Amino acid sequence: MEEIAGLKHADVQNSTDAIQALRDGNARFYSGQSSRPDLGANERRAQIIGQTPFAAILACSDSRVPVELVFDQGFGNLFVVRVAGNVMGEIGLATLEYAILHLDIHLLVVMGHEGCGAVQAALMPEEWIQGEPQALQALIRRIQPSLESLPPIRDKKARMREAVINNVRHQVALLREQDVIVQAEKRGQIRVIGGFYEIGSGAVDLLTEEEELRV
Ligand SMILES: [Zn+2]
Repeated sequence: MEEIAGLKHADVQNSTDAIQALRDGNARFYSGQSSRPDLGANERRAQIIGQTPFAAILACSDSRVPVELVFDQGFGNLFVVRVAGNVMGEIGLATLEYAILHLDIHLLVVMGHEGCGAVQAALMPEEWIQGEPQALQALIRRIQPSLESLPPIRDKKARMREAVINNVRHQVALLREQDVIVQAEKRGQIRVIGGFYEIGSGAVDLLTEEEELRV
């Protein structure tokens, strides 16, 4: 176990540290100064012992959102679930529960992104949605409730940003109804926060305040 502890990201002891590590890594990334952490053969072999990621991230499958690169994190640091529209579903939830109960993560981030096709699909007319296969329709239906209260915003880009962030808030709220997550927040093991990745700039806005996360 000591060897595993030795592999743990030394600077990250709690959720505040974890948020800072993500902010620092993203700043390196968007300013073109990524450290692109890699491992030598010996370090990689040592990772066979186990993993000690400091955060779990629920992000979109979009090919333009490679989570480890965006946060400039290396092997073993992030436990990542990626699914279109960063939607909370049963298997994704189970994966996050594993990270909380068995990997002792400090932070859970739901991260949406600029120009998300899944959120765009959820804004399409009903006839279009019904033309999609069943499973895809079901995924879209998990985003739709978050868009019902979308304020009328004329600017298309601003409207999409609001829609994506509303979906992030909605998925955060759903996660926070889950017993394992409720308990982990209560005992101070984790914090659940949101994020918005802007493809153009490379910057991630982390939504850490309750007011920013309110649905
Ligand atoms: Zn997306």
